[in-house]
Amino acid sequence: MESTISAIGGLGVFHGWEQARYITSLRRLERGEAVLTAIGFDADDTLWHNETFFRLTEARFIELLAEHADPRDLETRLLDAERRNLSHYGYGVKGFTLSMIETAIEVTEGRVPAPIIAEILAAGREMLSHPVDLLPHARAAVEALAATHRVILITKGDLLDQERKLAASGLGDLFHGVEIVSEKTPEIYARIFARHADGPERAMMVGNSMKSDVLPILSAGGWGVHIPHGVTWALEMADAPAGHDRFHELPDLRGVPALASALS
Ligand SMILES: [Mg+2]
Repeated sequence: MESTISAIGGLGVFHGWEQARYITSLRRLERGEAVLTAIGFDADDTLWHNETFFRLTEARFIELLAEHADPRDLETRLLDAERRNLSHYGYGVKGFTLSMIETAIEVTEGRVPAPIIAEILAAGREMLSHPVDLLPHARAAVEALAATHRVILITKGDLLDQERKLAASGLGDLFHGVEIVSEKTPEIYARIFARHADGPERAMMVGNSMKSDVLPILSAGGWGVHIPHGVTWALEMADAPAGHDRFHELPDLRGVPALASALS
C-alpha cells in the first residue's frame, strides 16, 4: 500500500478532488496502466537561457577572423569541428572553445596570431561566468511539481559549469536528484529514473531538445514533453515523432504541472 501511495506522488491526506484522483490512479494501477511519478527537467534552454550565449560568442569569433575567412564558411567549419570533437570533449563551453581554436588554426592555415587565440580563450572564459536567467514559469513549474512528484534535473555539459548554473539559478533545493551526464540515451534515462523514482515507464522528461530530451525517453518507455526554444543548436535538432501517444509539445513550462497531473 505504501508503495502505491508514494507511486502516485506522496499525497498523504486526501480531500475532494484529491481523493477522486487517488481512486482514479489506483484503478489505473490495477488495470496495469502506468501512472506518472517522476519528472525530469533538462536545464539549458529549458529552465534557463544558454544557447544565446553560444551564438553571441560565435558572432564574436567570426568577427575576430573576418580577415581570414568568409562568415558562412567559418560557421560551417566551426560546426564541423564541434561535431568531430563531441566524442573527445563532450558537450559544453570547454569543448566549444577548443573547437573555435581548432577552426581558427584551420582557416588561417596555421597562421592565426596568438592575440586572436587569447581573445578566443577570453570569450570562452566569459561564457563560464555568464549570469543565469531563468526562462518564464521555470520556478513556478518546478516548485509545483516538486510538491507532487519526484523532480530530477538531468543535464549534459561541463560538470563545473552546470553546477555553477544550478547554484546561481536558486532552483537547486527543489530537485530530489541532479544528474550531470555525458550523453542522453535511452539507457541513461532508464538508469536515472530507476535510481531516483519508479523507472522510465512512470517518468516524464521535459526539455527543448527533441534529439536529447524527447526521443530517447520515448525509446526508454517514458513520456517526452518538447518545449521549443527560439534558438537551438544544429546538433540538437531532430524531427518530432509521428503519432506517439506519449509525446507532447507545449509552448512553455506553464502547462507542465497540469499535464503531469492528468497523467498521475
Ligand atoms: Mg537544453
